[in-house]
Amino acid sequence: MSAVDIEQPAQQSVQQSAPTASHESAERALRIELAGTYRAFAMLGWTELIYNHITVRIPGPGTHFLINPFGLHYTEVNASNLVKIDVDANVIGSSAYPVNPAGFVVHAAIHRAIPDAHCVMHTHTTAGLAVACSQAGLENTNFYSAQLHDMVAYHDFEGVTVRADEGARIVADLGDKRVMILRNHGLLSIGSTIAEAFVRLWTLNRACEVQLATAALGTARAIPDDIAARSTRDALQFNPRHGAGADVLQALLRQVDRIDPSYRE
Ligand SMILES: [Zn+2]
Repeated sequence: MSAVDIEQPAQQSVQQSAPTASHESAERALRIELAGTYRAFAMLGWTELIYNHITVRIPGPGTHFLINPFGLHYTEVNASNLVKIDVDANVIGSSAYPVNPAGFVVHAAIHRAIPDAHCVMHTHTTAGLAVACSQAGLENTNFYSAQLHDMVAYHDFEGVTVRADEGARIVADLGDKRVMILRNHGLLSIGSTIAEAFVRLWTLNRACEVQLATAALGTARAIPDDIAARSTRDALQFNPRHGAGADVLQALLRQVDRIDPSYRE
């Protein structure tokens, strides 16, 4: 979860019941989509050396997830080296790479507590972290913050997120919201799909970028609550009729394909 997460010894593998052919096919598609999303994060500059995670629950028997192999940069993630783990970060099957179980603590708590939280994303972008460090948090002063009216939860900083008991407090602070500012730490989003989590995180991160730029110009002009509420209702990227993020994610994945399609391997 954090740039100073503590490396843990490799986990023991556990056995699982056999998935069906359709589960295997769905997992393969999800691996490609997730690996492409890691590459898209790298393309956007949303990387923190080898740290941070995007995790996705996979269909099939058991409650299993895909996570980035610990030690690789997001540009090195591909469909095959994503690691399948259970909610306790035990590796399912085998993996040439370890995972960072300490970093999975918060993701696991959310996946465990929220049934439709199939995807959890977490970043330490400079703009997101800067707003997370500010006393006011996200201000309702720009086009993108206006699309997140009453959607953002906050969680107070407790240090490096390596303790399982913090997970319960993060889930409680999240409540029914789907994006969170981890104070003094970074941003987090969840979604029922990768695309949904992505478009939420992108909107929050963009709002933070604009807030940071506006701060350099002086006092920002506030947006009235009723206008923000209307903006949020009207926001196309959250609307299932406009793909709930799928359109924008697919556009980014096509861009990734033009740069380096090796994530599909
Ligand atoms: Zn973190």
